[in-house]
Amino acid sequence: MLKTWHTWILKENNLDREVLRYCSNCGHIVPFFDTMVRRHNSNGKNVYRFAIYKCVKNHTWNEKLATYKAYTDHREVLVTETIEPQIELPRLPLQQYQEHGIQEITILIENVEGRFRIDKLLAERIDGWSRNQVIHRIKEGHILVNQQQIKPGYTLNAQDIILIHMQ
Ligand SMILES: [Zn+2]
Repeated sequence: MLKTWHTWILKENNLDREVLRYCSNCGHIVPFFDTMVRRHNSNGKNVYRFAIYKCVKNHTWNEKLATYKAYTDHREVLVTETIEPQIELPRLPLQQYQEHGIQEITILIENVEGRFRIDKLLAERIDGWSRNQVIHRIKEGHILVNQQQIKPGYTLNAQDIILIHMQ
């Protein structure tokens, strides 16, 4: 059987990365914006990945995104990285796949920042399938997540594996 494999990192548009929360410096609830800077801290056992947010008055708030097992025994690891602005995910050229006889598409969701419904995401990313067509295929069990049938409104998580059986 011919298959294709993709790895996607899901990020909401930079401009949408606004969170309303209490700022202890401002003393009230304000919008915080994602600076797209990420920081990794380690306590020796785990590495913590944070997103750095700022309010309009430049006060900082760190949102914990993920925890990983530490791969070194360094007590204090402090790494800062800046993420590229939103890189468009590729669109899947369905017609080409069909012409080449590809029967199965696998998409590994490497990381997710934000909320992504599977039906909406696939309709946006697959050329030639409307949202209704995607929903129909999910209901028929031709689109699975982690080998299981899901609802069209399923919200994707990091490490999910989407399997699409072409019909
Ligand atoms: Zn503030």
